[in-house]
Amino acid sequence: MPENVRLRCCECGASVHADQPVWRCECGGLLDLAFDLHFDPRQLSGRRPTMWRYRAALPLAAATEPVSYDEGFTPLLECDIHGRTVHIKQEHLFQTGSYKDRGASVLMTKAKELGVREVVEDSSGNAGCAIAAYGAAANITCHIYVPADTSAAKLAQIQAYGAILHRIPGSRSDTARAAMAAAQEIYYASHSWNPFFLQGTKTFAYEVCEQLGWRAPDALVVPAGNGTLLLGAWLGFEELCQAGHIQALPRLIAVQATNCAPLAQAYQRQADELSAVEAKHTLAEGIAIANPVRGSQVLAAVRTSGGHFVTVTEDEIVAAFRLMGRRGHYIEPTSAATIAGLEKYVGTTTSEGLIVSVLTGHGLKSTDKLLGHLL
Ligand SMILES: *Cc1c(COP(=O)(O)O)cnc(C)c1O
Ligand SMILES: [Zn+2]
Repeated sequence: MPENVRLRCCECGASVHADQPVWRCECGGLLDLAFDLHFDPRQLSGRRPTMWRYRAALPLAAATEPVSYDEGFTPLLECDIHGRTVHIKQEHLFQTGSYKDRGASVLMTKAKELGVREVVEDSSGNAGCAIAAYGAAANITCHIYVPADTSAAKLAQIQAYGAILHRIPGSRSDTARAAMAAAQEIYYASHSWNPFFLQGTKTFAYEVCEQLGWRAPDALVVPAGNGTLLLGAWLGFEELCQAGHIQALPRLIAVQATNCAPLAQAYQRQADELSAVEAKHTLAEGIAIANPVRGSQVLAAVRTSGGHFVTVTEDEIVAAFRLMGRRGHYIEPTSAATIAGLEKYVGTTTSEGLIVSVLTGHGLKSTDKLLGHLL
């Protein structure tokens, strides 16, 4: 088990023991986790094929029972993209239909360990679904804040798990503000703020490396809204590399929708911080994040990895959705955006190495939008 687990502020450097139910520093800064890690792949043999096989790498108390639906170890499918074989991880096959289950499983396990009885979360839909589902397993009351125009299927799903749904008029940022106000009183199980979420998504990297025989891909093509998959995966690859379990880190290729691309624009300007962007509507609702909380961390990770950003238009998203559907993959538009970005990357890169990408969310989650725009 990891030792000396502390929450450390990215702004002022203050730190508190992780047995405190805090999600933000007193100064308002983002918190990251710091701990001593002892993980050895040789301990994995005989463990069940779920993300909890990497429990030794997760900063939770030894006595803590996971809040789990046996999630993880999703297939890494070989797929032909423009004549090139790439590996695509099937993260839409989770309990709630998106990779957010990784983060929600660890975060709600931590919330239960802390004795939290009630949480608040805001999302464009999928993180809310995941927190609600794991709230049901943990017997924790969940208040889920979503923009009023979120896909109807996600609204139904959140309520099916017994969570209390708050539909907020206006933009995604208005929803975030409403949740933040509620979080004055209630523990904020935020996928963007709470660093335990990233401990869950980091198991993505552990799985990919194990599935490839303890090596990292040369490039990882992932969507970036708040960057919870990107940052979690990067954390995992870094941990494995530092411990010598893999020899090199992947280049991170981050995909944004042209209509909402604050990270790609900042990267283009070679800026370390984001500035306000005009966010237009995009089919890729899962990455329509105008003001990502961990934006400068995402920029730093992509830059350090030697990767870059790719932006995709609405037409390209529709084309990628159709391509994947004809191949038997029913995915949500946000996942189609990633595939559109993957196609662009494959079409332009001169590097020969192994490429891994991901299907992040299931098509059944956005039936209403698909009927309206894509079929
Ligand atoms: C949340 C989500 C994303 C993007 O994740 P970020 O953490 O915002 O980068 C991509 N696809 C789907 C289906 C999602 O639910
Ligand atoms: Zn601080």
